[in-house]
This record gives sequence, C-alpha cells and structure tokens, in this order.
Amino acid sequence: MNFAEFADLCYELEQTSSRLAKIASAAEYLKQLGPEEIRHGVAFLSGRPFPISDPRTLDIGPEAFAHAAATPEIQDSALPALTLTDVAENFARIAEAGGKGSRSAKYAHLRELVEMADPHERPILFRLLHNELRIGLHDGLIQEAIARASGSELKTVRRAALFLSDLAEVAFVALIQGAAALRDVDIKLFVPVLPMLSELTQDFDGVFAAHGGTTALEYKYDGARVQIHKAGEQVRIWSRRLSEVTRSIPEIAEIARKDLCGDSFIVDGEVVAAGKDGRPYPFQELMRRFRRIRDIETAANDIPVRLHLFDCLLLDGKSLIDEPYENRWEKLREMTAGKNLAARHITGSRTEAETFLKEALAAGHEGLMAKELNSLYMPGNRGKLWFKIKPAETIDCAIIAADRGSGRRRGWLSNYHLAVAGDDGGFSPVGKTFKGLTDKQFTEMTARLQELQLADDGYTVTVKPAIVVEVAYNEIQRSPQYSSKFALRFARIKRIRADKSVEQITTLAELQNLFERQFASKSRRSEL
Ligand code: AMP
Repeated sequence: MNFAEFADLCYELEQTSSRLAKIASAAEYLKQLGPEEIRHGVAFLSGRPFPISDPRTLDIGPEAFAHAAATPEIQDSALPALTLTDVAENFARIAEAGGKGSRSAKYAHLRELVEMADPHERPILFRLLHNELRIGLHDGLIQEAIARASGSELKTVRRAALFLSDLAEVAFVALIQGAAALRDVDIKLFVPVLPMLSELTQDFDGVFAAHGGTTALEYKYDGARVQIHKAGEQVRIWSRRLSEVTRSIPEIAEIARKDLCGDSFIVDGEVVAAGKDGRPYPFQELMRRFRRIRDIETAANDIPVRLHLFDCLLLDGKSLIDEPYENRWEKLREMTAGKNLAARHITGSRTEAETFLKEALAAGHEGLMAKELNSLYMPGNRGKLWFKIKPAETIDCAIIAADRGSGRRRGWLSNYHLAVAGDDGGFSPVGKTFKGLTDKQFTEMTARLQELQLADDGYTVTVKPAIVVEVAYNEIQRSPQYSSKFALRFARIKRIRADKSVEQITTLAELQNLFERQFASKSRRSEL
C-alpha cells in the first residue's frame, strides 16, 4: 500500500467524530494490507513507528527533526511512490543505526525518508516519527476494526489482545492466519498477561451475595504482584505493569526452579519483604528491592522477600485460564506442595470471615481477598469476581467550609469541606462529606461552624479552620477538581477530634505518601 493512502485515511479519521465511521474506515484499510505490511500497518495506525512488542525506538534528537523538516522534496515524477513498507524499512534503519557516527547515520536515513514524502504525506510522516498521530483512534477502536475486517467476534479479538499484548500481532493472526487461529490464541509462556484485579469492599454480606453464599477468602498480602513464567530452567518474572523484574528478585526465580513442580508453568502471586520473624516489612523496603539493579546479593540479605502464590494460569504446557478458580487452586496446591501458598479459607459464614480477617491483620497483612469459586481468570478484569476487603484508613482533616443541608438536613450546615495542611501553610481541600454524624452532632456542629463563619454565599459557609475531624476513606484518588490534586473516596467522619488542633492535621505531603504507598502496594509505581 502507498503511504499516501495511509495519509488519506489519517486525514479522514481526524475529521470524523463518528465512532462507527472511524471503525469502518480503519477496517477497510486493514483489509487491504498484505502479510508483509499488516504488522507495521497496524503499528502506524496506533501512532507507533514499531509494533508495541518490538523494543526498537527511533531515538532522533530535536535538531535532526528540525533539519529534516526543512529538507526539500525530490521533484522527480519517475520516482516510485512511497509505500508503507518503505517507511517501515526506513524506520528500522534509523532505529538500528548505532555506535560511532550513529547520529549522522540516523540523520541521513531520516533525510532520505523525508525527501521521498510529498507535502500531503509529510505531516503524517512527522506525526508518526513523533509517536503521536492524533487521529482519535484508540486501541478499543482498532480492536473493533480488526473484528470487522476479519469477520471475527469482538470478544475473540479482545481475548487475543490480552494474550498477545500487541494489536499488530492480533491483526496478523486475525486477518492473515484466519478466524480459527484467532480463536486458538491462548496464554503463552514468556508473554505476560495483565493480572486479574479486584473490587474494593468492606462488607462481607455483599461478597456472599455476589458469590452465591460461599467464597474463597485469601490473605491480602501487602507487596508487589508477580507473574512467574517457567519452562525447563528458564524463569522470567513480570510485575503488575508487565515490566520484567527477574533480575531484582533472584531468590524468587530460585523458588520457581527448585520448589515448584511442573516442567512449565505460569503462576500469579505476591512478593512481600519479610523480616526475620516472618512478619511483613514496610512496603518501602520491598520497593527498594525492586529498584535495585546492582548489588542484588547484599540487598537480598538485607531485605529478604517471600512469595505467596494464589493462582496458576498454565501448567505443563496446558492453559488453565478458562478453568474455574477451584480447579486452578487445586493445581497450584499440587505444584507447590502447599509451600509458598497464600493462606486461604473457604466459608459462607460471616463470623468465620471476620475471624479470618482479624487473623490476617494481626499477622501484619492488609486484609483479605474474596474470590468466587467458579470464576475464570480474566486478565485485566476488575470486578465482583474478586473482592478486596481491607479496613478503612483515616486521616485528620480541618473543616474549611460547609454547605447548607436540604430535605431532612434543612437548617443544618451538613456537608463538610475537608482539607489537609497545604505546603504553603494554607489548607488544601481533599473532599466533602455529610456522613458520620448523629443528628445531635449535626446540630452542635452547625452552631460551632456559625461562630467560625468567614463568608456566606447563601449555600456554602466558609469558616475559619478550627475544627478537626478524623475522616475514614476507602481510597485516595487523583483529582483535577481540587487544588490538592487528591480526593478521598467514600469519605466519612469517624470522630470529631476535639483533642487536636488544626496545626496537627494530616499534611499534604503525608497524604501524598499515603497515596503513593496505596498505589505502590498495588504495584502501580512506574518502576513496577
Ligand atoms: P487490586 O490490584 O486493586 O485488585 O488490589 C489487589 C492487589 O492485592 C493485587 O493486585 C495483588 O498485588 C495484591 N494481593 C495480595 N494478596 C493477594 C491475593 N491473595 N490475591 C490476589 N491479589 C492479592
């Protein structure tokens, strides 16, 4: 295919806001690509010079770009048109120019490419070179286009995308190898899949209702998610974000080699930093291990890590992804011989669940996971098949304003604006809540806030920050709405802290730490 046709498509997609029209045009484009073109054709469509699973990068400096942009086009009508493959081959040459003189070699290849592009093609070529096509075609739409072009079901395309982790590869299988090959795509050794995720809850009744009366409770360990792949002696380990961490935790690779049975397997688990007494170390210690690339041995002695496995996705070459949780766990139990296994208790009793939760917390863990016994392993899925249960955390906030209540709360100042101590000595808002006070407390709080009133716009009364409340929340979220950039999810007042002054409230820096830690413990840090 000529690059000009790809440029046409980009201009067209840029102009249309209709989802369906975008999918239809992209599907037409995909249908025209041959076996040699389809991988880079899809990469280009998603705004990448190379398919996502190809580690090459162009690595061109801004100066080279500026010079190249000023290169005149070669005006020779005998020149053949620029094709998609020409562009892909040239990108490869740019990326592969290395060693001494690589900068000038890269520039020479870039210039050759740009000279061949006419004024219609150039803007698109440059956007591609910059990794940014801006045609409003995200991965979801490309998946739909692949489904449409290949006549496959969208869910089959999505499933293949989870296992192949590269839409260029998915398109190749769907359009070149055919629908049957696409259906056969399954989890593969040494191609990590997104881990299955959970929904946060604090209520066992909801768990039992969602799981049909009985659920499998497991300790929720406070560490970093790992996916371990092994075939023969080869072991590789990936983090939750699918970056490879094998080298940072050699002792985990050793466990996979020595202590786990099975010639080939993929297992899912949590690595925690454990002190000599077996209790978990603070999370930061584990992060230090993951960041470490040198002196691993010393680090391994200083911060020992432990493995708690909770799932098995493949064993002896056979995918278990579509087996129910209970069967996967049985395989896991066999292959681990009960070692390095997450603590687990299956129950339909609320009392038993609460006792198990207490045990987990007493042992220093974060809480529990509750898993539906029949659930399949769904990569990347966050839903009610897996719940996480952890006690709410609290911070101390100042009340900086309050909204007037309506309905039953009429006459009260009942919706409180909460703030932590800002970096500049001021107060940084982090949320609002009308939950947690009794009627009597509302009445008293209203009277106190009225005394502290600074301004009143008829709805919101701004007050002098003087009242401290302990606020429970379920998660700290990033928020563009507040100047603090954070918002508390499900905030509720736990106690009025008459014993505390506003100088003692949680600071923004502390909140930031809690936020980091919260995501870090779910391995969402960039290095993981
Ligand atoms: P989320 O990732 O938000 O669903 O939170 C759950 C996280 O807890 C997982 O990603 C794991 O890193 C971690 N975790 C700790 N213990 C378990 C367990 N037994 N089962 C599943 N996840 C666990």
